[in-house]
Amino acid sequence: MEKILLLAFTETDGTLGKPGLEVLSAALKIREGLAGAELVVGLVGAKVGPAAGQIVGCSPSRILGVEGEHFSQSRYGTDAAAAEAICKAAEATIILAAGTARANRVLSGVAHRLQGNADTHVCGVDVADGALKVTRWYYRQRMQAVLQRSSRPWVIICDPSSFAPWTGSSRDDAFEAVAVPVPDSMRTTVTGTQAPASGAQTIRPDTEVLFVAGAGWTKSQADGKVKVNEAEPLILGFLDLTKASLGGSKSMVDLAGEGQQVLSFMTHLNQIGQTGATPRHPKGLATCCHGEEPHAVGWRFINERRAINKDPNCGWAQGKADVLYVEDAFAVMARVNELLKESK
Ligand SMILES: Cc1cc2nc3c(=O)[nH]c(=O)nc-3n(C[C@H](O)[C@H](O)[C@H](O)COP(=O)(O)OP(=O)(O)OC[C@H]3O[C@@H](n4cnc5c(N)ncnc54)[C@H](O)[C@@H]3O)c2cc1C
Repeated sequence: MEKILLLAFTETDGTLGKPGLEVLSAALKIREGLAGAELVVGLVGAKVGPAAGQIVGCSPSRILGVEGEHFSQSRYGTDAAAAEAICKAAEATIILAAGTARANRVLSGVAHRLQGNADTHVCGVDVADGALKVTRWYYRQRMQAVLQRSSRPWVIICDPSSFAPWTGSSRDDAFEAVAVPVPDSMRTTVTGTQAPASGAQTIRPDTEVLFVAGAGWTKSQADGKVKVNEAEPLILGFLDLTKASLGGSKSMVDLAGEGQQVLSFMTHLNQIGQTGATPRHPKGLATCCHGEEPHAVGWRFINERRAINKDPNCGWAQGKADVLYVEDAFAVMARVNELLKESK
């Protein structure tokens, strides 16, 4: 009989964030599919009571918690010790966690300590013929594999946004405290958070719209002039009005290294494409971007795609966008921002 453990690190207020609730949905699906399976929830953080209260409605057989100041911040020594202690206390055979930066740092090591196996970037779970199968992509989202393992414990680290978050009523905040000897290796201390140079948070994985800026914004325009100074407020204005997430083409993010005039808020983290990110948003708008295949590969999970390009023969016109506006993006975005402001 499988013992499923949902392992999660709580937020600073002690609650369970969206990635944890998403993986809880996956854990419940597995519990439902595997006959006799049991679900235990394990929480780690400065406070875990609020999270215990949040998820108690899904009827876990136990809620285990490791809480205290030592576990408030992401640190390998303490996080690995807490996760290991919870996995052992739960006698878990299947361990599910959200692939956050904090969990990704420690869980493969924890799997090794437990003499188990870990699979990362899992984006789907299923139970068929009494066996658990997980799905993940390979080769930059080009090939999908369905994996099954007989060895236990099996640590399954899920990509955020792969499952709908669990919603249910909360009742109380009871949990069983698991004692963890504080390890000697506590050399890491989080002293602060460094935001991007511009101070603007431009990557927003959970938003409705992806806005992509291509290298065209920095190229000389019809009057022979480069208008980066005009491009910046237009793009930032749109992001501010819509809270869209900002993506860039490879050419755009590489410009800084080539000594060209660049958008100050664009970094390699924004790059979408074969060698960049493959985000998931319901809608996408590409501007001043040619829409070449290595870039469009990163649009695989964008459902509704629109592009603005002066060139009617650009890549987007070759079946890569639902709608292509053959127009000057400077003029279109200025008007779009005006309309957005009017509608506020
Ligand atoms: C192995 C490999 C991996 C790669 N991986 C990636 C990747 O991960 N991501 C990626 O993006 N690329 C990747 N590339 C590069 C990719 O092939 C393209 O070179 C790149 O995406 C081009 O960027 P761009 O469209 O912004 O620039 P450009 O090709 O320079 O296109 C600029 C566009 O802007 C338009 N434009 C200019 N001014 C205006 C205006 N005023 N209004 C409207 N439109 C205007 C032009 O018509 C033009 O179409 C990869 C290439 C290879 C070989």
